[in-house]
Amino acid sequence: MIDAQQVKLAATQLGWDACGLVALQSVDEVHRQAFLQWLRQGQQAQMAYLEINTTKHLHPQQWLPEMQTLIVLLWQYTPAQWQDEHLPQIACYAYGQDYHSLLKKKLRELLQCLQTTYPALAGRALVDTAPLLERHWAMQAGLGFIGNNAMLIHPQIGSFVFIASLAVNDAANAYDRPLQPTTCEDCGQCAEACPARAIVAPRVIDARRCIAYWTIEAAHWGIAPAQKCRCGYIFGCDICQKVCPHNKIPLVSVHAQNAVNQKLTQMTAADWQNIDEASFGALTRHSALRRAGFRGIKSNLQHYFF
Ligand code: SF4
Ligand code: SF4
Repeated sequence: MIDAQQVKLAATQLGWDACGLVALQSVDEVHRQAFLQWLRQGQQAQMAYLEINTTKHLHPQQWLPEMQTLIVLLWQYTPAQWQDEHLPQIACYAYGQDYHSLLKKKLRELLQCLQTTYPALAGRALVDTAPLLERHWAMQAGLGFIGNNAMLIHPQIGSFVFIASLAVNDAANAYDRPLQPTTCEDCGQCAEACPARAIVAPRVIDARRCIAYWTIEAAHWGIAPAQKCRCGYIFGCDICQKVCPHNKIPLVSVHAQNAVNQKLTQMTAADWQNIDEASFGALTRHSALRRAGFRGIKSNLQHYFF
C-alpha cells in the first residue's frame, strides 16, 4: 500500500504544484448523468471520440484493469508575460513548449521515485490523450472545484493548470475528497464575457459555439467555422479564464520549462498572413499550436481576427 503523504512530498519535490489521490473507480452517478446529457444534446460538436469512448470515460477501471489508484497532479502555466492584446491571441497554455512530452517525463520521474520505496509499483502516465475525465478526477482528488466555465479551479493557483495523472497498481493508505465549496456561487463573469455565448449553463460548454473548439479541434480537422466572431484569438481562447476572479491574484508559474516563446507570441497579423508552410513548421516545431495546422491558423485569422 502506498503512503499518500509520501507521494505528495515526492510530487512537490519534483516540481508539481498540487497532488491528490483518488481510488480508480467509475464516475459517480451525478457526473455520469451530466456527461451523458451533454453528449445527448450534441454539445461535444464533432468530437466523436467522446461518444465512441463513453464507457471508457465513465469506467476507467475497465481499460486500466491492473490499476487501483489515480495520482492526479497539477502543473501551473500562468505566464509571466501576456501577449500584447492587439496581436492575434494564442491561448496561454501554448505560449511555450508543448506540455505533453514535458508532463509525461515528469510523471515517469515520479513513478521512478516511488519505485525506490515500492519496487513492485507499476504505473501508466496519462496526459490528455487517454479517455479520462481529467477535471472530474482532479476535483475528486481535492485539487479544486469545477467553475461555471467548466475549468478546474484550484483555490490558490487558479485555473491555468495542466492536469496529468499517474495510474498505479496499488491502493493508497488515504484518499482525498472534493473541496468545499464546489461551485462559483453568485459570480457569472465568465458567461457574461464569453463572446460566443458558449457557456450555456453553469459548468456546461456547448462546443458547437466555443472558440477554443473551433480554433483547435475543428481547425485540425479542416472544418472552417460557419460564422465569424471578433474575439482576437487564433488558437484556443482564454477569455472565460482571464476574467475569473480566481485568476486575478498575481499568479505566475515558477517553471522554467514554461518559458514564453517570444517569436511565437509576438507574431503580428501580417506575420501570420505572410508566413509560408515551411516557416510555420519551423516556428511551431515544439508548440501545441501545431495541432491547428498551417491552414487552420490561416482560416482562424479570417474568422476570429479581423
Ligand atoms: S473558451 Fe472562449 S468561447 Fe469557449 S467558453 Fe470560454 S470564453 Fe467562451
Ligand atoms: S468567472 Fe466567476 S462564475 Fe466563472 S468560473 Fe470564475 S468564479 Fe466561477
